[in-house]
Amino acid sequence: MKKLHLITLVALLISIFSFAQEQKSIYATMSLSDALELKKDLPEEVEILEKRRNEAAVYFTEHAGHFLHDKVLVHGPGYIFKSSREEAIAALYKEIREIPANRMPFTITEDVLVNQALDLINTQNIEDHILELEAYGTRYHDYAIAIQVSNDLKDKWEAMAALYGRTDVSVRLFNHVNTNMPSVIMTIEGADTPDEFVVVGGHLDSTSWDNNDAPGADDDASGIATMTESIRALFELGFVPNKTIEVMAYAAEEIGLVGSAEIAQDYANNNVNVISAVQFDMTLYNGSAIDVSFITDYTNATLNNYLMSLMDHYNATGDHQVTYGTSLCNYGCSDHASWTGEGYMSAFPFEANFGQHNGDIHSPSDTYSLVGSASHSAKFAKLCTEYLIETAKSNILSVNDNEASTISITTQNGQLNYNLEASTSEFESLSIFDIQGKKVSETSITTKRGSVSTQSLSTGVYVATFTIDNKTSVSKKFIIK
Ligand SMILES: [Zn+2]
Repeated sequence: MKKLHLITLVALLISIFSFAQEQKSIYATMSLSDALELKKDLPEEVEILEKRRNEAAVYFTEHAGHFLHDKVLVHGPGYIFKSSREEAIAALYKEIREIPANRMPFTITEDVLVNQALDLINTQNIEDHILELEAYGTRYHDYAIAIQVSNDLKDKWEAMAALYGRTDVSVRLFNHVNTNMPSVIMTIEGADTPDEFVVVGGHLDSTSWDNNDAPGADDDASGIATMTESIRALFELGFVPNKTIEVMAYAAEEIGLVGSAEIAQDYANNNVNVISAVQFDMTLYNGSAIDVSFITDYTNATLNNYLMSLMDHYNATGDHQVTYGTSLCNYGCSDHASWTGEGYMSAFPFEANFGQHNGDIHSPSDTYSLVGSASHSAKFAKLCTEYLIETAKSNILSVNDNEASTISITTQNGQLNYNLEASTSEFESLSIFDIQGKKVSETSITTKRGSVSTQSLSTGVYVATFTIDNKTSVSKKFIIK
């Protein structure tokens, strides 16, 4: 009898406890249609605080959040977390800054460097990074291990920069208000215009239904691995950007884009000039006839078109061929929305047409072995590399565009031949620099056509710099094979 009572009591306590757990509620914004449907399905668990246009501020239980995720076709949470009722409602009325037309001319000028970088992308490295993150088990944002994951990634990125002798690289933790898990940000300081930022990001946390086993290999260890290998290739190349590059591993994406939202808001509050931000969230699984699917909602059309033109230019044929298409991903789908929400240009190249992506995410089955190859991710690492080099531009390889078209150079049989006849300028000297910016030769120019020996140069990328009147200069890249 007594025993039975005890069991009854325990059962009662458990049910009270789980009821309390279930009733833990959060504020967020979501699409109005999702909010209305959710309210209809779970009237007791959902309160619509305010509606505006096609968005709603909502207060709902965590259980309803899971329900939403299950019901609507979104990859991320499907809502954007807000820390209070006031913040949720205010978000509906936020005036998003307009992106000025022609904010920056997106050009394609770095062929030599990009093509070299693409050859350096190593699929094995991407696999290694994914397995390393998967091995943590579950990277859920409020587990102690999540803080460890962030610290470890910081150490890893610092070690990578040190390996390549990069003193222009720093890595920091970005601490948040609404999660204990910090985001990790690597900064490669721009040599020419450090106040202009080019951003790539992915999320470091993972989730599954009960968060006991969330390996998150595709979602989103793959994105972190993709960016890490892209940056390594830039380091191996000795790439020094004109603009500042930042690589971001966001915390707590899975609970409503928390990490990226706080970072984007902080940057906007401080008027940080972010040229554009590209999101890499799920790159592992090849589920469509095309390789890369550009998400066209909550992203910027100019930036999407630019990324597509990069792929037309660099990935149309040959060893680095990658195909692309477009699809929609819906509200609160991933961290790109945080940048869009602060009036920055963002894009989200995704692993497949939406709906044909990895169906095992947010489950114990989201493992590397499910796919077994990082070759799909390598395609995204190439796109990442193209975007970073062409947007941030190379410092020591920068070209004076007006003059550059009037100068032609060719390499043949250990000679660099130059032809300056189309130019009206009087040139004084020709210097050759290696990729680290070290001058390896200097020759004075007496005629408009001539050549210098390149016999002593080892294979690699070089810059031929023609000096005019001892001050201005025009540079051209060339390769010694
Ligand atoms: Zn994700």
